[in-house]
Parts: sequence; C-alpha cells; structure tokens
Amino acid sequence: MTTITREMALEHLYANSLVDEATGCREWQGSRNKDGYGQLGNQAIFETFRIKGTHRLMYQCVTGHEYAGRHEQILHSCDNPACLEPRHLSLGSARDNMLDCIAKGRRNFIYGERVSTAKVNVEEVKLIKALLAQKIKGRKIAELFGITANIVSQIKTGKSWRSV
Ligand SMILES: [Zn+2]
Repeated sequence: MTTITREMALEHLYANSLVDEATGCREWQGSRNKDGYGQLGNQAIFETFRIKGTHRLMYQCVTGHEYAGRHEQILHSCDNPACLEPRHLSLGSARDNMLDCIAKGRRNFIYGERVSTAKVNVEEVKLIKALLAQKIKGRKIAELFGITANIVSQIKTGKSWRSV
C-alpha cells in the first residue's frame, strides 16, 4: 500500500479544484454531497485521513489540526460549501456555524417563522444535540429553532429522538 503524505493529499486537492477569479473561491471539481460540500473520491487518501469533506481535509492538511468530532465544524467565510480555499476556512463549533448561518440569513437556517408546535427533522436534532453537549441552554436553543423548550427537553432526556 502506498503511504499517503499530507503533501500528496494537498496536491490532489489542488489538482482537482479551480479558482473562481471573481470570488477567490477554490471550488472542488469532483463530486459533492447534497449540501454542496466537495466529497473526496480518492480511496487511498480517504483511508489515510478518514475524512470525506474536501474543505475539512484541506483545513487539516494546511493547519495540521486534526478533526476532533462532530461538535467541530469548518466554517466558510465565503459561504460557498464547495470552496476549499484555506484563506476562506476557519475552525468553529456547531454553535458558531449556526449563529453564522443565522447572521447571514441562509434560508434553511431561518427558524423564526416556524410555529412553536412544529416538529424537528433529523439534521436539526443532530445540531440540537451538539449544542446541548456544549452546554448551551435549552431555552436558548428552543428560541433559535423556533420550537418549544419542551421539545428540546425531550431530546435532551432521550424521551424522543434517542436514536439520532
Ligand atoms: Zn471561498
């Protein structure tokens, strides 16, 4: 088996991305997931780094910071998920990411219009659990998501969504 170095992974990332002169974004030319994030297709590199997201792999290769878990996210200052330009990437928490999305008014993160009885979906529950793990108050989370504190409490105690 070939040993994949950080330099080889970086070379692969640069060889498969193109810079958009207008925005400065370096966009991944390979496959993307449903949210628009570049997905690594090279099996050998994946086996070495265990990272699928190309922006995350770029961040790790450039900074040496190793992925510590789902509560950690790589934020895009350009708001372009396909971008892996290191200067557009920064390390943040799930909470930072959500607040950032709300601040930028990204449609799928606007929860205010929702009625309080609305149900949450799997992705939202994952995010709520990440926020709870960071000791963000349930009341605050309920407010951000436009749901009742009772729904958050049920998620917290495992009364609902235990499997997520
Ligand atoms: Zn960018």
